Amino acid sequence: MHNLRRAMIDRQHESRRSFLKKASLAGVGASLVGGASASTASAAAGAAGSGAAQGPVVVSSLNGREAAQRAIEIMQDGGSALDGAIAGVNLVEEDPDDITVGYGGIPNEDGVVQLDAAVMDGPTHRAGSVAALEGIKYPSRVARLVMERTDHALLVGQGAQDFAKMHGFPIENLLTERARELWVEWKETLSTEDDYLPPHDIDDENIGAIMQDATRHYGTIHCSALDPNGNLGSVTTTSGLFYKIPGRVGDSPIIGAGLYCDNEVGAAGSTGRGEANLQNLTSYLIVERMRMGDTPEAACLYACRRIDEKTKMARLRNDRGEPNFNVRFYAISKQGEVGGAQLRGADDRMIAADASGVREIDLAYLYE
Ligand code: ASP
Repeated sequence: MHNLRRAMIDRQHESRRSFLKKASLAGVGASLVGGASASTASAAAGAAGSGAAQGPVVVSSLNGREAAQRAIEIMQDGGSALDGAIAGVNLVEEDPDDITVGYGGIPNEDGVVQLDAAVMDGPTHRAGSVAALEGIKYPSRVARLVMERTDHALLVGQGAQDFAKMHGFPIENLLTERARELWVEWKETLSTEDDYLPPHDIDDENIGAIMQDATRHYGTIHCSALDPNGNLGSVTTTSGLFYKIPGRVGDSPIIGAGLYCDNEVGAAGSTGRGEANLQNLTSYLIVERMRMGDTPEAACLYACRRIDEKTKMARLRNDRGEPNFNVRFYAISKQGEVGGAQLRGADDRMIAADASGVREIDLAYLYE
């Protein structure tokens, strides 16, 4: 198996193991974790549809089990939804084993880790974000400072790094040995028409192109939270598309694309092909659909359909005419309902958490 695929699968297993260990320590029954609900709209126990705010409730991408638990704890200790969501994703940003976010993230095509992150605060309806940020382990914290300590909403590149330095963030090397090795392997096997070669034997043929059939990989963490005061907060943080063109910015730091939050309605965020979200502002769309009465899951499915309709380029469709990429959405309503959906894949899940524990729930989907 290719090393990159192995790395991602190992990470998922490791994350699940450590979650199960933690869950049993915390008294969260394994049956809660395994007991995914087919109807995701009311998956946070007792949280659906009563009209009143039901926090703390958290939704997150599947790599956010520990993050969701941390977010719940922070809110139970009096922190806001945004405090909880950021503290949660910080665990993933600092985790060298998650190769899709923060420290240890897969670099761009030059071998440089460039990070994107955004935060949005429900009560003040402010947002802050950073894009193509290098050398800073916690981009979500810098995004929060952009929101709180500037009159701007987005800082990029060197300017974002200088701003982080000004606020005392150390500049660190975020490229772990593991991510560097994966990048070298990618570079050596990208094409038979350049001069890089992977290790090979005397009789090996077609050296340099063994990854041609490999799909491009994405990964990110989104986390939205509803606190006991009924306030919402959201964060999305990522190292973005693997081996991206230097300077490429995805949807994660763009308000309305990678996340959106309206304190009167709900919050939503996304992982997956960022370009589709940038072209459709789908997190904003989801919140607006919830405003019109959709459940979180129905709103997320609506966004999937919108992307499907708006995917016009043949190269982005498979031989059945379906989009050949994936995008996932996670949403939470002001009332504490949770749900999510994805464009492709019948068997994927997301995280939902409340005071009674953290669980995985099914993502609705458009295409298998
Ligand atoms: N949406 C992110 C991006 O396009 C990547 C991901 O979520 O996997 O940068």
